[in-house]
Amino acid sequence: MQYFINVILPIPLEKLFTYSISETEAHFLLPGMRVAVPFGKSKIYTGLVYTIHTEPPTVYEAKEIHQILDDYPIVNKVQLKHWEWIAGYYMCTLGEVFRSAVPSAFLLESETLIIKNERIVFDDSELQDDEFLVYDALCHQSSLKVYEVGAIIDRKNVLPVLNRLLLKNIIVLKEEIYEQYKPKLVRHVQLGKAYIDEKNLEALLASLSRAPKQSQVVLALFQLQATTKKPINITDLELSSGGSKAVIKSLVDKGILEEYLVKTDRVSYEGNAENESLKSLNTYQQSALEAILRCFEKNKVTLLHGVTSSGKTEVYVDLIEKCINSGNQALYLLPEIALTTQLIARLQEYFGEKVAVYHSKYSVHERIEVWNNVLEKRTKAQIVIGARSALFLPFSKLGLVIVDEEHEGSFKQFDPAPRYHARDAAIVLAKLHECHILLGSATPSIESFYNVQLGKYGYAQIDRRYGNVLMPDMELVDLRDEIRKRRMKGHFSERLQEEIRNTLEVGEQGILFQNRRGYAPIVECTTCGHAPQCPNCDVSLTYHQNNKQLRCHYCGYHMALQESCMACGSATLDTKGFGTEQVEQELRAIFPEARVGRMDLDTTRGKFAYEKIITAFERQELDLLVGTQMLSKGLDFRNVNLVGIMNADALLNFPDYRAHERSFQLLTQVAGRAGRTKKRGRVIIQTYNPQHHILKQVASGDYANMYQDQLFEREEFKYPPINRIIKITFKHKDYNKLNEAADWFAKSIRNVWEGEVLGPEFPAIARIRNQFLKNIIIKIPMSGSLSKTKNSIKRIEKSFNAISHFKSVRVIYNVDHI
Ligand code: ADP
Ligand code: ZN
Ligand code: ZN
Repeated sequence: MQYFINVILPIPLEKLFTYSISETEAHFLLPGMRVAVPFGKSKIYTGLVYTIHTEPPTVYEAKEIHQILDDYPIVNKVQLKHWEWIAGYYMCTLGEVFRSAVPSAFLLESETLIIKNERIVFDDSELQDDEFLVYDALCHQSSLKVYEVGAIIDRKNVLPVLNRLLLKNIIVLKEEIYEQYKPKLVRHVQLGKAYIDEKNLEALLASLSRAPKQSQVVLALFQLQATTKKPINITDLELSSGGSKAVIKSLVDKGILEEYLVKTDRVSYEGNAENESLKSLNTYQQSALEAILRCFEKNKVTLLHGVTSSGKTEVYVDLIEKCINSGNQALYLLPEIALTTQLIARLQEYFGEKVAVYHSKYSVHERIEVWNNVLEKRTKAQIVIGARSALFLPFSKLGLVIVDEEHEGSFKQFDPAPRYHARDAAIVLAKLHECHILLGSATPSIESFYNVQLGKYGYAQIDRRYGNVLMPDMELVDLRDEIRKRRMKGHFSERLQEEIRNTLEVGEQGILFQNRRGYAPIVECTTCGHAPQCPNCDVSLTYHQNNKQLRCHYCGYHMALQESCMACGSATLDTKGFGTEQVEQELRAIFPEARVGRMDLDTTRGKFAYEKIITAFERQELDLLVGTQMLSKGLDFRNVNLVGIMNADALLNFPDYRAHERSFQLLTQVAGRAGRTKKRGRVIIQTYNPQHHILKQVASGDYANMYQDQLFEREEFKYPPINRIIKITFKHKDYNKLNEAADWFAKSIRNVWEGEVLGPEFPAIARIRNQFLKNIIIKIPMSGSLSKTKNSIKRIEKSFNAISHFKSVRVIYNVDHI
């Protein structure tokens, strides 16, 4: 008997590939194990076994596999089902899902570049012979391609050896060298050892009787040490004792206090053995929790609609605890993990070591570790917090999925395929595991709320803030009016200046929101009207003042700012529009005494740059923080009582059917950062259009009306959730070829499908990185069959690909979220 396996290769092939195996291999192999296989003339790939069978392929002769790479499946059956759903629904191949679902270190292939891990110290006598050969080669060469390793050891053994070296953390993949995290060191103090004894302490206090400030500090420290087991940092001691840094320093100099440094590592948990007990829920949280549990009993996807700062996290925590107490795994999905150090810290306080964080920005080794911990159902990763890629972990006892901030657009992956929406894929995952799933938001997506209205989803609500703090007081400021009355200073209305001044006077903090980075999005010559454009994209270049550069935000192209116009030579350059850099600069000029920070893509490049800014703001080392939409995401600052929205209009005018929904969500979320703990916050929204219905709905917190309006528009213009929609994007560097290709495709669809087809049309930015773009949009009524339509599109694509003239035109599908 001959045996074969069908293998998923991590490349966009329509079909699985068949390889031949021996009988022994057939008895050993299981679906979900990896194999090293030859492909094409000389390539090696890591493939995943899908089925084991005895049917030889008909059109080619099956090659033999090189090697089996795993002793047991690293991917389970539920995952494979989930991947199939993703591939089918989002119109991509199983290989593309495989590639993006597993850590890239699981996918060694001939072209992968490997290097030595410089950060690890180990004893090379621990290495097996072939491992040593590879290691030794890497000591003499900075990097090696996987196929080059074939010249050093037996070709068929390459992947197994490299996989072992990866697991031992001795090699890393070249593409994944991340900035090494240098934890911030914070100064802490303790009482000198000699004074721990009470008698000595008394003697000390007596000797300090002439130095009341010093003895106050000593007493305060003594009290702090008695009430907490945690290390005491200098800032806390200053605050509680009223003593200055100088007083503390003189005590340290005398040896009465001892100073030491503690790493404030906010991501990895340092194993504080005692977990904090859960907070008890207030009555509103409690009744929401009960409503959720009732919906769970009916196995319904459930939406928790709780205003900002209503304490949704504590409700999630209760559910997570119930889940892990019954021995199940819990998955907590967030839109962007980088912004959630606060949340991770909160969960770790409750659940300690059980919390694992999974994120595509983590190193190869960290990701493999989490993957294996989940695979082996270790308690160490019983709760996984992660961005969308955490969906793909090998859960086998999943009991609960939480999708926090479910309305967030960043749950959608746009590039590369699979172009999936993590919330929707999570709902399918929960169904496959027959487990509970909770979506949470202060501003639910129209889709989710629509599903609640239809009765498909369960619903729970919390409509007041924790501690009964009032929702922030929102004020719309009419910029036309302010300009007419000449009250503006830069981009700040008189009202906003006044509120900032008040905030600074009482020692509170403020957030200023402008959803554009850089100094100004356009530089224009006032003589001839010329504005520098990106040579690769159809956009104007944004001016960045800090390095005097013009930059393209789409392709990264940049050039030095010219002194005079490149077209006419006049030195009459002026800027149009404004970004966060300009807001920051104006703030510094108007409020020179304030400490101002900025949080946008430019200031948060490094892996831990977010943490630094967030921590500085949290510790009140900054008074005012200027930022982009990053500021809207779930941050909980205790001392922020003012939020200023610099210009609400840019959001509203975005050319997208979701623009109004998004504006409502973004503005409400940013506003929600104000006044979360003690007193009512204040929000100033500057706009040229204070009558705009969305702004009024934001100001009055009227979600219900916003939903009604938007749903009406979606019905009118046939958009989701009333209709389904697929966007097909064509991409090519040749303008004419692109047009022909898109026209051909649209015509073919219209021939076989009588539903609504829009386009082909150029998007607002019709060229990016020298590639022209054109879209076709297909609207499918809910009564129609989505899968049939997809199949006919896929058939058309096949004929399209067979036309040699169109061969290099890329076809990209986006389903539902375009
Ligand atoms: P949301 O996620 O709904 O915006 P959070 O969960 O961040 O709100 O809660 C807002 C604040 O209220 C947090 O500082 C949190 O610690 C506090 N809080 C919420 N619920 C409780 C509770 N039951 N007991 C004590 N503090 C709570
Ligand atoms: Zn000019
Ligand atoms: Zn560009």
